[in-house]
Amino acid sequence: MRRSGDAWPAPRQALEAVIRPVLLGEKELRLPVGDACSADAKAWHGKRIRHVMGTAHDHPVDSIADALIRSFDQSYWLAIDEKRAFPDAFFALAGELGVFGMLLPESSGGTALGPRAIARLVLRLHEAGADATSLSAQALLPLIVLRGGPEVPLREALPRVATGAVRMMAVAATEPDSGLEVSKLATTAVADGSNWVLRGAKIYISFAMQSDWLMVLADANGAGPTLFAVPREGTKGLELRPLAMIANRHTTMVFLDDVSIPDAFRLGPVGKGLTQLADGFSLRRIAASAEAIGNAKFCLGRAAPYAIERKVFGRPIGANQGVQYPLAQAAVAIHAAELALEDALVAFETRDRANERSAMARLLAGSAAEVAVKAAFTTFGGMALAVEAHIERKLRESTVHSFDNLLLGLVAERVLHLPRGY
Ligand SMILES: Cc1cc2nc3c(=O)[nH]c(=O)nc-3n(C[C@H](O)[C@H](O)[C@H](O)COP(=O)(O)OP(=O)(O)OC[C@H]3O[C@@H](n4cnc5c(N)ncnc54)[C@H](O)[C@@H]3O)c2cc1C
Repeated sequence: MRRSGDAWPAPRQALEAVIRPVLLGEKELRLPVGDACSADAKAWHGKRIRHVMGTAHDHPVDSIADALIRSFDQSYWLAIDEKRAFPDAFFALAGELGVFGMLLPESSGGTALGPRAIARLVLRLHEAGADATSLSAQALLPLIVLRGGPEVPLREALPRVATGAVRMMAVAATEPDSGLEVSKLATTAVADGSNWVLRGAKIYISFAMQSDWLMVLADANGAGPTLFAVPREGTKGLELRPLAMIANRHTTMVFLDDVSIPDAFRLGPVGKGLTQLADGFSLRRIAASAEAIGNAKFCLGRAAPYAIERKVFGRPIGANQGVQYPLAQAAVAIHAAELALEDALVAFETRDRANERSAMARLLAGSAAEVAVKAAFTTFGGMALAVEAHIERKLRESTVHSFDNLLLGLVAERVLHLPRGY
């Protein structure tokens, strides 16, 4: 991670340009009213993030993390989870603070702070009990548009994506019949003059309901997977059906019934859609690792002090091996996952085996989250099941990182040179 005192690149100035007007009172921050924001957070917010930038911290990402954490505390996330709501207010403030442009180049309205900044921010937010998945989706997925090449018209929208004014958080690739085998698409796009007509169904699509644009993978004229942008509002033949899940992930089924869109909404060359998606997999795994490690640290951060405070049989429960060893195992798993995340970031930056090293980081991070949640359950006993303890919420969230087979297959193939199993 970049240390305080290091020289900052030009993007920092760009980021400051977003935040400084707020600090100087030249620009109001839109406060998330009407949402489940705590009284404390509102009071603090009233002080207009005075300490952000340059005082308590010298790292723009830490300052942004602090602003978001202090605005949206545990009661906010509890209410959002209970209502299965989208964190609109959190998302709006993240947009104000320039988060969605962190991976975009300055030419697209971004600050190009890079994956390290996003990973650090997401990890800190999750460590504080937040759910930053919407934030990383909006920061990561627009890169797909850039990967489509300079002639993609939707690039024009990216500066508005960087502020959150336009939401681009959904990629619709998975289909009910083919699952992991995304190259076997039943969804088709057929050329019709200067338009494309899309037909098919998608499943488990995150944030489709909250996105202005859906990026849909379809087989174009039989020439292979191709990405298209479909506007959510007012598109004839597009139907979204929410699919409730164990965790608050805003998944939907997407039905495309002869949806006609202009060729200008094609997001890249015909037949190159999977490559465009695959080029972002390492980044997605880095973000997912940060989420999982943050969740693990959240659980351990609550459980370890409780193990000291809580006394049963006349002594702290943490004095018992049955309680302290699982906590120690969680600490070890988190340490390993953090090192692997750092390794994955270096791999990404140096373009050296980022695919397999990000897969390893994500595997270790998912496992650290599972170990830490389980240790927290042992420590909190009955209290762990109460929603107010926030542990059961993190247990449900950690299930999202439990699909490991594809990643293990990737490591087996790339690291051990075993036959490809997927
Ligand atoms: C919370 C959530 C959000 C999601 N968001 C999105 C999204 O935004 N967009 C999107 O397109 N998709 C999304 N998905 C879909 C996700 O990518 C799929 O679940 C995944 O591709 C697997 O498809 P499947 O669930 O149909 O499982 P299947 O492909 O049916 O596989 C079932 C099981 O068999 C295993 N398996 C299959 N083949 C092999 C093999 N060759 N070797 C070893 N094991 C194998 C799998 O690992 C899995 O455990 C989301 C899923 C979840 C749970």
